[in-house]
Amino acid sequence: MNDSSITIAPAGSMAARVQGIRARMAAACARAGRDPGEVKLLPVSKTFGVEAIREAVSLGFRRFGENRTQELVQKAPALSDCGVDWVIIGHLQTNKAKEVARYASELQSLDRLDLAQALDRRLQTEGRQIDVLVQIKTSDEETKSGLEPDALIPFLREVARIPTLRVKGLMTIAALSDDVGVARGCFAALRQLRDRARLEGIEGISLDRLSMGMSGDFEIAIEEGSTEIRVGSAIFGARGYA
Ligand SMILES: *Cc1c(COP(=O)(O)O)cnc(C)c1O
Repeated sequence: MNDSSITIAPAGSMAARVQGIRARMAAACARAGRDPGEVKLLPVSKTFGVEAIREAVSLGFRRFGENRTQELVQKAPALSDCGVDWVIIGHLQTNKAKEVARYASELQSLDRLDLAQALDRRLQTEGRQIDVLVQIKTSDEETKSGLEPDALIPFLREVARIPTLRVKGLMTIAALSDDVGVARGCFAALRQLRDRARLEGIEGISLDRLSMGMSGDFEIAIEEGSTEIRVGSAIFGARGYA
């Protein structure tokens, strides 16, 4: 017998953690009556080094989430042999647009027009385009960045005019709470907002993707329609900083 689908990864290894996450993703899809092929797993490698990322590459991952451009500019050249696509998921200062335009293939935290315009200028210089998700504030927590839901449709009309930015969907971070109903409400709100925005039929805008769910809440996010979960600690282990 040589069926790779029944290979058991060594206990405690990254491969075993990924297998566990995939099993939980599949179970959440089954509960929600969804096709497991509809939900992607984006490993979030922020704070982790090049060796950990190489290990994840060896498991088949080619896209990685990072939240700071300081890390991006170090990791991207160091891993240039791996063909990695870098996805920025963190709040971005406008003066960091240059690094994103140079190294990232996607930005999931687009939340304001001045950032879109700064990215456009830098992307034109680089002769590149990137995919973007619009980050939406779905909770009242002061610390959570993101566009207010009511501002989405006018914002999409503006970004639709920027050819270097290809809008593909929405992203959110759920409120932290012991009550799972709170996160579920955030995820459902993102899906409903997407459904309303779709009715506008804005040309050049696709809203197929919903990036929602992290290590602590990805199963609920999948039940509420997530198309990709962003998972850091459950793959790479605990981070050194909060
Ligand atoms: C760090 C981070 C994640 C991953 O968080 P974990 O809880 O470690 O899975 C996901 N999304 C964003 C925006 C992050 O900053």
